[in-house]
Amino acid sequence: MSTEIHRSVCPFDCPDCCGLLIEVDNGRVVRVSGDPEHPFTRGFLCAKMNHYQKTIHSPQRLTQPLLRCGSKGAGEFRPMSWNEALERISTNWREIIAAHGAETLLPYSYAGTMGIVQRNAGHAFFHRLGASLLERGICSPAKGCGWSAVMGNTPAPDPDEVEHSDLIILWSSNAAATNIHFLQRVKEAKKRGAKVWLIDVYPHQTAAHADQVFVVKPGSDAALALGLMHILVRDGLCDEKFIAGKVQGFSELKAKVLPEYPPATVSRMTGIGVAQLEQMAHKYAAARAAFISIGGGVSRYTNGAMSVRAIVALPALVGAWAQRGGGCTAGISSGAAFAMELIERPDLQQGSPRTINMSQLGMALTQEQSPPVKSLYVYSSNPAAVAPDQNQVLAGLAREDLFTVVHERFMTDTARFADIVLPATSSLETSDIYRSYGHYGVQRCHPLIAPPGEAKSNLEVFSLLAKSMGFSEEFFDFKADELIEQLIDRQNPWWAEVDFTALAAGRMVKLSPPKNQQFHTPSGRIELFNPTLAEVLPRHLPLNVSDFPLQLVTAPAMKTLNSTFFEREEIYGQMSVSLNPTEIEQRGLRDGQKVLVWNERGEVEFFLRAEDSLPTGLAVAAGVWWQKFAPGQSTVNALTAQKLTDLGGGSTFYDNRVDVKSAQ
Ligand code: SF4
Repeated sequence: MSTEIHRSVCPFDCPDCCGLLIEVDNGRVVRVSGDPEHPFTRGFLCAKMNHYQKTIHSPQRLTQPLLRCGSKGAGEFRPMSWNEALERISTNWREIIAAHGAETLLPYSYAGTMGIVQRNAGHAFFHRLGASLLERGICSPAKGCGWSAVMGNTPAPDPDEVEHSDLIILWSSNAAATNIHFLQRVKEAKKRGAKVWLIDVYPHQTAAHADQVFVVKPGSDAALALGLMHILVRDGLCDEKFIAGKVQGFSELKAKVLPEYPPATVSRMTGIGVAQLEQMAHKYAAARAAFISIGGGVSRYTNGAMSVRAIVALPALVGAWAQRGGGCTAGISSGAAFAMELIERPDLQQGSPRTINMSQLGMALTQEQSPPVKSLYVYSSNPAAVAPDQNQVLAGLAREDLFTVVHERFMTDTARFADIVLPATSSLETSDIYRSYGHYGVQRCHPLIAPPGEAKSNLEVFSLLAKSMGFSEEFFDFKADELIEQLIDRQNPWWAEVDFTALAAGRMVKLSPPKNQQFHTPSGRIELFNPTLAEVLPRHLPLNVSDFPLQLVTAPAMKTLNSTFFEREEIYGQMSVSLNPTEIEQRGLRDGQKVLVWNERGEVEFFLRAEDSLPTGLAVAAGVWWQKFAPGQSTVNALTAQKLTDLGGGSTFYDNRVDVKSAQ
């Protein structure tokens, strides 16, 4: 049989949503490359996906259901049939529901796949069951709250528009690791003469692409944005005409907030010198079309939503929105294009169960709850590695009275704690439709190879579980392609310009956000003053004080994505923490040695790396490792806290303090 080439999509939690070309020979994927005809990603992939076939055909793929036969967490299992697995799960759940109620069941899932069908396939089932609801806020809902506080439902600008910018500010964005195709647009704009700034807590890989790098103290971003606004107002650099016509609350901001942020104060808060602040504000005002791209890090502090809100307010003062290529983005949201209620099925909800925030799984499993969580069903996520406060999460997963089912492709840290493990398909073995959170593209894909062994998709498993539980709703018979057809709401204006033939052929097509008004807020204006919020104006919210001297930055890795790709031993290297050499010297440590990073929640062993470019006071740990590849017993989330952001119930992965000592 000759090799066939098919289009597909990168399924992972990344804004780029790359178009793939998959070469299949005799039922096996032999090569994965970027699709050169994909309008946004244009044929190149990141290092994570270049050899996706190694993940697909990894000998470590799970191929049949497994039943625990050792102690919890030992990873000892025996194979069993799907029938036995389904029978055991439904019998256990019936007993738990009879004794304690359905609310004691908890689903746990996130973006292990970004395909709209497979990612959301469990919602209808758990609604019908009456299980506890999961608040899926582990990524950056605070960013969305910060954006909507000022911009309401205004769609973010198309990232291609950045080519018209003359000043691009990457604010808390390591685009070289997390948004490489947007960075490509930035580089092209730079070649045409645009200036590029990076504002972040340390000069990471993206710094090499910036004309200027501004290193700020962690959590001080709102102070910086408000300090820049103070100078704009003081020096008469605002666009009065734009403000008069398009902005709500400028006079309140000017009178009540900005006087508290003079340059000397802001310099102390942010670590940026007064002269540099003055220069920044003047250059920002002088730009013809300044554009700010806000990354995820800034929103992962306890003040995350307010920080994003202050940054989003900045372009309004100089009228950047009036210019093509000017303005700001905090990410693309095109969920409104899809009939999500047809897959989420809130109408099937039984009772009014409580909601548990996924960043507080440790507390939910170990602290007194009414009623307690008696069963956990995990799919498309690996909470033993990715959820904060790992030691508490692991203590919860180790509970003998917790009945845990994990549906996975690999034996992850979470799967090792399961009572029953179910084998999952990969993205090349199922149908799905993908939307991006970095551009307005949508792409549909079909199964290209057979699943390994007895692996099944999320949708197939929930259909089987529904039947085992006696649910007879028609929804549980739908196939993925039928749900995709239902999700595409052809009457919705978002689809008005879509070429449906191209979509059916597996090509990326572009949604068009509604164009009926410029700013989709209640007032129709940019709302610096937002009367619907408890804090009606933006301000800087200081972080909590801690005795630990170093701010821990849980940075994105270049070759892994959250805890994904650790099945590929050749790509992940050594689990390390980086410090400025001064911090290393002060502690009598040496570059390359094993150290313990510790705080009130736990201690984690890392290899130490000296990084001259890092500011003092920072410890940077890239990647979310699996325990079995760590130098010690635990990984970075043993150091992170379950506290939430100021708005949105988001995680606070960047807002943790630690110290470092020798591991010997
Ligand atoms: S992880 Fe992101 S950049 Fe890499 S291939 Fe997937 S979508 Fe593209």
